[in-house]
Amino acid sequence: MDGRPKHRVLVLNRLWQAVNIVAAPRAFSLLFQEHACVIHCDDSGYMVYGIDEWLLYSEENPARHEGDHIHTVRLKIRVPKILLLKSYDRLPVKEIRFTRQNLFERDGYVCQYCGDLFGPRELNLDHVIPRERGGRTTWENITTSCQRCNSRKANRLPHEAGMRLLRKPRRPSWRPFVSVAARDRLDDAWTHFLHLSHNGR
Ligand SMILES: [Zn+2]
Repeated sequence: MDGRPKHRVLVLNRLWQAVNIVAAPRAFSLLFQEHACVIHCDDSGYMVYGIDEWLLYSEENPARHEGDHIHTVRLKIRVPKILLLKSYDRLPVKEIRFTRQNLFERDGYVCQYCGDLFGPRELNLDHVIPRERGGRTTWENITTSCQRCNSRKANRLPHEAGMRLLRKPRRPSWRPFVSVAARDRLDDAWTHFLHLSHNGR
């Protein structure tokens, strides 16, 4: 089976949250082992196909571009754009590393005090409960803050500084997507799901 390297398939978990982007061979292996279904968008909305249904669909609705098929000995199969995992176990979501960039990505590069958008160089990480008061360096106590808000808050609790958090910091429940998206060609069919993931809804 030959999947052209440019083919990338978006993988959703059972909650339809984007968790990964895989190459075509990995996508077909998930499909053939029945660990995932294909999600395909047509005029009537998002349809879910098992592997057999997808083979049938491929036959009846060949892709417009030859490159959007893969060939096996007997079959010509459309490369799906999106897969839906049947189980959480099969493709574990990697633990998200606790890094400066991932914190910024979780918060969408928005200062969680003034609500403005900043570049990474203009942003700081703020301990909501200051370290001197026992605040820990964790997903739940670190938030994105611009330099101005950060120095205004100083070593106080938000309410002591007359400030309010836009959103309580939380451990992200799935891989933030931006870092993956940056190096991958985005497919139009993915937009809906990436948007959902990016907003952390
Ligand atoms: Zn700010």
